[in-house]
Amino acid sequence: MSHDSGGRRRLFFALRPSARRRALLLTCREHWGCAGRPVHPLDLHLTLLFLGGCREPDCRALLAGAASLRGEPFSLLLDRSGYWPGSRTLWLAPQVVPQALSRLVRDLRRLARRQGLKVPPRSYQPHLTLFRDAGPGQRCPPQPPQPPHWRVRDFVLLESPAGVAFGDGPRYRELGHWPAA
Ligand code: ATP
Ligand code: MG
Repeated sequence: MSHDSGGRRRLFFALRPSARRRALLLTCREHWGCAGRPVHPLDLHLTLLFLGGCREPDCRALLAGAASLRGEPFSLLLDRSGYWPGSRTLWLAPQVVPQALSRLVRDLRRLARRQGLKVPPRSYQPHLTLFRDAGPGQRCPPQPPQPPHWRVRDFVLLESPAGVAFGDGPRYRELGHWPAA
């Protein structure tokens, strides 16, 4: 386990692609060529809710609360691509956000608030980052020729360990895994 100096762990709920879906995403990324620092294949994810630093009791409550959520499987078509100059990221996103995804995010936000955790106030913009440190001359990448279609069946709680630099290996650690059903 990795804690920051205040004994907190940096956590976020996310969707993680299956091995098959990951392969499609990597193919899509190859079409874009080298446009920055590629996210490690095993770190590819779509954030549902960023929680930031959490104490151990919060972490336990999140694990228990997530297990009691009732969602439903849904499909995501990642048919939009873009570049954010602020975070220097290249990403894929769905043009249409499925209601089941919005409901899952809403429920996770409620769960976090019940635990007294702060949730990001800004509106939710689901996206899956393929490259970091791209730009600054980076132009918006072309639409993926074959937009990856993603059947989402589960969600995870991930830890982004403090003080771990980007290296050759994956960074995030999975703390929990639940069916979206
Ligand atoms: P780094 O910040 O070291 O470049 P990272 O962004 O992958 O790497 P984290 O900052 O721990 O790692 O973020 C984990 C996930 O949460 C990422 O998808 C990130 O975009 C998202 N995230 C981070 N901070 C916020 C925030 N304030 N609001 C919403 N999402 C966030
Ligand atoms: Mg970050």
